[in-house]
Amino acid sequence: MLSQALQDIINDQIAMEMHASLTYLSMAAYFEANNLEGCAHWMRLQSSEEQAHAMKFFEFLNDRGARVRLQAIGSPPVEFESPLTVFEKALEHEQKVTAKINQIYTLALKENDYPTQVMLHWFIEEQVEEEKSASQIIELLKMTGGQPAVLLMLDRQLAARGSDH
Ligand code: MG
Repeated sequence: MLSQALQDIINDQIAMEMHASLTYLSMAAYFEANNLEGCAHWMRLQSSEEQAHAMKFFEFLNDRGARVRLQAIGSPPVEFESPLTVFEKALEHEQKVTAKINQIYTLALKENDYPTQVMLHWFIEEQVEEEKSASQIIELLKMTGGQPAVLLMLDRQLAARGSDH
């Protein structure tokens, strides 16, 4: 049986993943409004991934006989300064998620909860990917130097993202 502390922190994590999903969907809407459909496509897929992350934790709690307690999700940001700002905020958010997952792992180690540790291995690897892909796009956006033609080329590249990254 999962300890109450682990149940609570995993329920908080479900809320964090769902908030991330909503934030990325809002970022997709921003890109749609600014005619950057490749960026919007990338963010829509990112939003679906976050939803899937929330469901992994949801299923883990159910499998361990614990109780899922969904929480109210705050409004996501609507407006952004620039495409670069959007991806910088996305990276910042992923770094917060990584810190939170590490915190859950530390608790699972302390409590000798091995199934939670094993479940988190997937997330620990996933966070490396999440931070890497956001960082790469930030670097590319910086290279455009705000030139619309280069930005459009990058947008076309992001349009090619498949559902597994
Ligand atoms: Mg996630």
